[in-house]
Amino acid sequence: MAVRKPVVAIDGPSGAGKSTIAAFLAKRFGLLNLESGAMYRATALKALRLGLPLEDEAALAAMAEMTAIALEPTEGGNRVLLDGEDVTTQLREKDVTQAASRVSVHPRVRALMVAAQQRMGAEGGVVMEGRDIGTVVFPKAEVKIFLDASPDARGERRFIQTGPTQGQPSADDVKRELRERDERDRTRTESPLRPAEDAVLVDSTVLSLDEVKARAEAIVLEKWPG
Ligand code: C5P
Repeated sequence: MAVRKPVVAIDGPSGAGKSTIAAFLAKRFGLLNLESGAMYRATALKALRLGLPLEDEAALAAMAEMTAIALEPTEGGNRVLLDGEDVTTQLREKDVTQAASRVSVHPRVRALMVAAQQRMGAEGGVVMEGRDIGTVVFPKAEVKIFLDASPDARGERRFIQTGPTQGQPSADDVKRELRERDERDRTRTESPLRPAEDAVLVDSTVLSLDEVKARAEAIVLEKWPG
């Protein structure tokens, strides 16, 4: 009988390195790498295109019910199809990033995303990263990692990562934007960003990328020796 592969939940604030670590663990353990944030981003992109007010929960939920979002894992991250259209590149744009953060506060929108994410991971064998994976989407995940870093370290990394592709906003702008999104994620009523009680906390502020990878690998091996 085939052994069920685990669900690995990686949560944490923006810029903590979740995507890099999720991609590494997916490759190392042969798991599908699914970025739950891409679903909120795709929902936001469609809302912007339709001109829907981002505070109109009913309109956003009605739209989301009629929307097909597919995540296709590739070597370089998820290819995202919105109603069949490849929107992967557009999802990283600044206005979409901001809008995703606002769309994701609505419980009815979240309920639809969570149900879709649960279907994707129902058979196990996935690394899913986000904000509520270990607390809400997969509360019984075999492995839960909460990846954090100081706001300054996260801002610096995000600046280096996205600066040139976004008309080079200043480091201060990037940090301010990150702080705003964080604040919204942590203080929203529905599924706020917080570590699950049984999550292993990894603070990457003063760790090198190799150190964080080694730590994450060890956590998976400890919880799921295979
Ligand atoms: O992870 P990413 O930056 O792509 O997520 C985009 C936005 O979607 C985040 O700012 C957050 O507000 C929201 N999100 C969420 N729950 C998740 C994943 C993302 O609320 N599981």
